[in-house]
Amino acid sequence: MHTVPVVETSRLPLLLRAMPKAELHIHIEGSLEPELIFALAERNGVDLPYADVEALRAAYAFTDLQSFLDIYYAGASVLLQEEDFYDMTMAYLRRAVQDNVVRAEIFFDPQTHTERGVAMGTIIHGLTRACRDAHAQWGISAELILSFLRHLSEEDAIATLEAALPFRDQFIGVGLDSSELGHPPEKFTRVFARAKQLGLRLVAHAGEEGPPAYVWGALNALAVERIDHGVQSEKDAALMQHLVERGIPLTVCPLSNLKLCVVDDLTQHNLPRMLDAGLKVMVNSDDPAYFGGYVNDNYVQLFAATGMGAEHAYQLARNSLEATFASPQQQAAWVQQLDACFARFANRN
Ligand SMILES: [Zn+2]
Repeated sequence: MHTVPVVETSRLPLLLRAMPKAELHIHIEGSLEPELIFALAERNGVDLPYADVEALRAAYAFTDLQSFLDIYYAGASVLLQEEDFYDMTMAYLRRAVQDNVVRAEIFFDPQTHTERGVAMGTIIHGLTRACRDAHAQWGISAELILSFLRHLSEEDAIATLEAALPFRDQFIGVGLDSSELGHPPEKFTRVFARAKQLGLRLVAHAGEEGPPAYVWGALNALAVERIDHGVQSEKDAALMQHLVERGIPLTVCPLSNLKLCVVDDLTQHNLPRMLDAGLKVMVNSDDPAYFGGYVNDNYVQLFAATGMGAEHAYQLARNSLEATFASPQQQAAWVQQLDACFARFANRN
């Protein structure tokens, strides 16, 4: 058992920023900063319904998930060429490396782009090339997860998966995102069964705004290995027990929950309670360009609001590393780095 050092509150942000971590809930289109949106709009001759960067940023005052999605899809409209997908992904990975992210499993939404006439190969090649270059330049491990838009039909999702099959070696899994309420997981049973047959890893958003029944549905009907968000699980004691017993990871996104009004205040966020209850929760950024912070900002602000300490930080980082789809050997190597980081902090006390 690793001994976690006592770290003074004033030094906790340093530790949170320095510790190696994985980010498993990041939508690459949600990493598009307003400056890059305008640069790509100019490069591609796309008209935006916002006068300038400030006007776009000012529109980032959301009331719920849908109000965010409307702006998110407008932002993604500037992505047309392979180079655009490459630049977006490199910008995110450069930022992730600064946050000491050693592994990123990145969602991308092909339907957001294919419906605008962008070819699947253009999207995937741009993303893959960036993951490869970032690994070569900075050592970060990055993989892709193809996500279906749940407000569209299952037929559309199946067609999307089939269109991506020529690039099967360039993504490791499938996910499910976009508007949750009214689109239960059961709607996508067949496409997830097909993905499983293909040997893809399975995750889904569930229990962000939707009820615990959606988390049950993701586990039972879709057979997912991780739940994205899952913060509504707390309303169902049997579900909480099931998640603990099965060791299902929950990729929680505190600043996203705050900005989309899932919680009123970070001090009331239920992540500390879920961690204490034995759930494999961790901290992620979701759509960092839109929600006011990358993964370290999420850690630092959540810890400042809730009073969690170094032992919580260790467990959250460790959960993130052990919930990756990397090999057990690779996970163990990252956990060693985590232990070394905490030992450095202990020696300085
Ligand atoms: Zn998400």
